[in-house]
Amino acid sequence: MTRPLDEILAESSSRHRHLCPRQVLGTRMSLWAGEILGLDLPRRDKKLLVIAETDGCMLDGVIAATGCHAGGRTLRIRDFGKVAATFFDTRSERAIRVAPCRESRSLAQVYAPGARNPWEAMLLGYQVMPADKLFRVQAVRVTTPLVELVSRPGKKTECDVCQEEIINGREVARAGLTLCCSCAGERYYKLAAEGLAEVQI
Ligand SMILES: [Zn+2]
Ligand SMILES: [Zn+2]
Repeated sequence: MTRPLDEILAESSSRHRHLCPRQVLGTRMSLWAGEILGLDLPRRDKKLLVIAETDGCMLDGVIAATGCHAGGRTLRIRDFGKVAATFFDTRSERAIRVAPCRESRSLAQVYAPGARNPWEAMLLGYQVMPADKLFRVQAVRVTTPLVELVSRPGKKTECDVCQEEIINGREVARAGLTLCCSCAGERYYKLAAEGLAEVQI
């Protein structure tokens, strides 16, 4: 049986220190996705993989509602700065993407007539609005093959350049070498020795 919304929001806000409209959106989009995909939530297995399109508030709602989390390898973030997420049933490979309707913000006022300001209207309205008025749902096909997305847990190798260990099959083969993504050119940092000041700790 699905947990009551109040209980999930309490869990989400305890992690977040307050309750805000985006946590409500994350929670409700998850519950609706679970309903559409026929998956009971929260999950303790790896049947559901969530690909969230932002970090922040929405994500705490998604985590509380779905039980998916990065440590369980059931939650990924593609940070497009959008309050949206794709819910991927890894057994059936059925996936849906859920995002708020353009009108959801203004419509929230109608569902929370006693609200003192637009923020409170979203906070309260989002909790009671019918899901199909709040969200737009798209049936999607995730373009990265599932096996690549979840990769190969347990696989280990070593980078031929930096010698660091690479797990989960994330290595890149290039010119006869086994490289980590960093050494293959996707590095997101520069070493201080390459001209940046030491990090002050
Ligand atoms: Zn927040
Ligand atoms: Zn490397």
